[in-house]
Amino acid sequence: MAAASNFKSARARSRFRQKLLAWYGVNGRALPWRETRDPYRIWVSEIMLQQTRVAAVLDHYRRFLKQFPSVQALAQAQESAVLAAWSGLGYYRRARMLHAAAKKVAHEYAGQIPDSAEALRNLPGIGRYTANAIASIAFAEPVAVVDGNVERVLARMSEVPIAQSELWTTAQNLLDPARPGDFNQAMMELGATICLPGVPECHRCPVKSACCSRGQKLVARTPGAQRLRKSASLKLVMRNGKILLRQRPTSAQLMPGMWELPEYARGIRRQPQLRLKHSITSTDWSINVYTCRASVSSGETWVPLSQLARLPLTGLTRKILRRTNLLA
Ligand code: SF4
Repeated sequence: MAAASNFKSARARSRFRQKLLAWYGVNGRALPWRETRDPYRIWVSEIMLQQTRVAAVLDHYRRFLKQFPSVQALAQAQESAVLAAWSGLGYYRRARMLHAAAKKVAHEYAGQIPDSAEALRNLPGIGRYTANAIASIAFAEPVAVVDGNVERVLARMSEVPIAQSELWTTAQNLLDPARPGDFNQAMMELGATICLPGVPECHRCPVKSACCSRGQKLVARTPGAQRLRKSASLKLVMRNGKILLRQRPTSAQLMPGMWELPEYARGIRRQPQLRLKHSITSTDWSINVYTCRASVSSGETWVPLSQLARLPLTGLTRKILRRTNLLA
């Protein structure tokens, strides 16, 4: 099947594109990565936005680009500095792959980011979605994207079920070849703000006249894995302008090589100085933080407070240090 059956005619596709793009022009959210055609800035945003909400990305995006304003600057950076700038976004493998890809661009492409989706896919951490997003937005290459939002919109709009294997072809046939970057972003925006995962807001939908279901066909949500609840006690130990930290093993599955507060293993009867909640991947943590007298266990290191900002800290550690005013 080349297109969803309700978009077989060129006229129907053209009308759909016009309506969607007109709506997006007025209603698209003003986001910093939408104000640029710089492939590096678009690439960074696409990597940060993987599995992360827009609101959580905004600050990190601005700070990251201030610190690494170009692909060359990123390629020359130490991995620890890249991880430190990524701290709080989670899924640190993304930062490592982005860094590795920047080095590859610097060394094998003379600092020029490849300008086609096909070539972009040779870089670490760039799959079909990311390559097509960068190529369509930065270089106006007519290649469609399919993410969860686009898939849901297509499934609801289509008269007939769309097989997984046909999703990309369907999206490609619907794409506006004259404005592929805007079209792709408009489809994702429609899914993110109107054709919502739960109940779609069809009364506000700019393309409802082309939609076969108008909310009647609710796309089944994949049941999410049950979240785990865990608790931990951490110690906050300071002496002479230094704080006691430990570095996670570089072989650790989660956050390898990053720095964190040491665990407080002894049975504790007193009140913690700080209690907080923190969610990482599929686990919701309840954390108690205790100030303690200086005693160093194996694997723990004194780190000057003045160096904290440059250290790749875990998101939880950064949160605790901010709450206790040890980090800006
Ligand atoms: S009419 Fe409703 S179900 Fe159809 S695309 Fe618009 S928001 Fe989604």
